Amino acid sequence: MMQKLLINNNILKFKEDIEGLSKQRISNCYQCGKCTAGCPVAFAMDYPPNQVIRMIQLGLRNEVMSSHAIWFCASCETCTTRCPREIDLARIMDSLRIIAQAENKVSVREVPILNQIFLKSIELTGRVYEVGVIGAYNFFSLNPFKDIPLGIKMFLKGKLNLMPHSAGNFRGLFKRIREKSCDRN
Ligand code: SF4
Ligand code: SF4
Repeated sequence: MMQKLLINNNILKFKEDIEGLSKQRISNCYQCGKCTAGCPVAFAMDYPPNQVIRMIQLGLRNEVMSSHAIWFCASCETCTTRCPREIDLARIMDSLRIIAQAENKVSVREVPILNQIFLKSIELTGRVYEVGVIGAYNFFSLNPFKDIPLGIKMFLKGKLNLMPHSAGNFRGLFKRIREKSCDRN
């Protein structure tokens, strides 16, 4: 009996954690599958979006947190738009990524690496500095020489600028965002 109560508490705790962070009622999902039918990357996910929701309902914390699906999600919000129960699934995916990072359980580490580098490029130059982003991404994902042959070809055809072009200074904006997220925490 005690063990059953403990299991029930764990299930509720996981669902409540995600509901608290995402501000979504996960219990409202009735598994119609419309989110998955419209998701452009469901074919590549280990668990499609409706199954991720069902797993949260069932309290399968380890399975959800170690899934590739939460990192393959492109935040396109198609699922959110299609859901007849008005569940913002894109926001739930976001919350799952936040928790996975906080708990150091990132199953597809290339995604947060690219996110960080992409944002740094925007902060420093106001746009995507392609050579810097690809070079840093390959370096930090432990594949430093991966795109060198292609990069040389593109450079010789004049399709690659080695120097970044600045589109403005966004450091102030990023600083304010960081301060706001610190205030919220
Ligand atoms: S569309 Fe909404 S109700 Fe239907 S399975 Fe997806 S999350 Fe659940
Ligand atoms: S937000 Fe994510 S889960 Fe939803 S449809 Fe887009 S890629 Fe799929």
